[in-house]
Amino acid sequence: MANIALRLPANVPGDFFVDSTCIDCDACRQIAPETFSEERDVSVVYHQPENETETKRALMALVACPTASIGTVEHHDAHLGIDAFPSRIADHISHRDDVADHERFAKRFGCERVMHVDDGAHRLGIEQVLRGDEPMKLDKDLIAIPVPGHTRGHAVLLYRNKFLFTGDHLAWSPTRRTLTAFRSACWYSWEAQTRSMEKLLSYDFEWVLPGHGRIHHDNAENMRIHLTRCVEWMKTR
Ligand code: SF4
Repeated sequence: MANIALRLPANVPGDFFVDSTCIDCDACRQIAPETFSEERDVSVVYHQPENETETKRALMALVACPTASIGTVEHHDAHLGIDAFPSRIADHISHRDDVADHERFAKRFGCERVMHVDDGAHRLGIEQVLRGDEPMKLDKDLIAIPVPGHTRGHAVLLYRNKFLFTGDHLAWSPTRRTLTAFRSACWYSWEAQTRSMEKLLSYDFEWVLPGHGRIHHDNAENMRIHLTRCVEWMKTR
């Protein structure tokens, strides 16, 4: 739970607030941009929710915050936020962050999990195991593409040549207004991640759906332009 004693001074007065444990992951600003904004590497409440819709979006941000840094002074039913997930992106696609609860997800949805052998798939008892650098077709619309870099066995999922689930490999930068990667969250090899990014240039996609960072949607041609920029930028880092 967020701690009122740690309430950031930049929050506007009122019910919702962000405390100083915020890690600036951007999730709340994507979910409820009418309430949360960025202020010196953290999020703060710049506008208190004024109606039911805004309150629901703010509660969605509250329950999605990975560090429980969002709080309220008044009591709210958190289920208003919880029950609003999964949130539809486009077509029939929804999107969630972290997979730390993958066992619970698999049990709840009766689904198979996919992971690269280099990220410990065998140890975790994963059903679909990726190996090497070659993409794996998971069904007629879905492929898993190994993209080592963030971790040794990192992979992205491409659905219908339209939706690219990127984990921590690739995201949109709202400040640079192009696609980006996170050098500070690169745990295996930046050079390998740059090569992996180049590999993605041969695929079409219109949506980037990251684990952390900003979602982006554009046509495939513009996405390729942004990805080319990202590769060039990575080579200078
Ligand atoms: S979701 Fe939480 S951690 Fe992420 S930016 Fe918002 S307040 Fe900070």
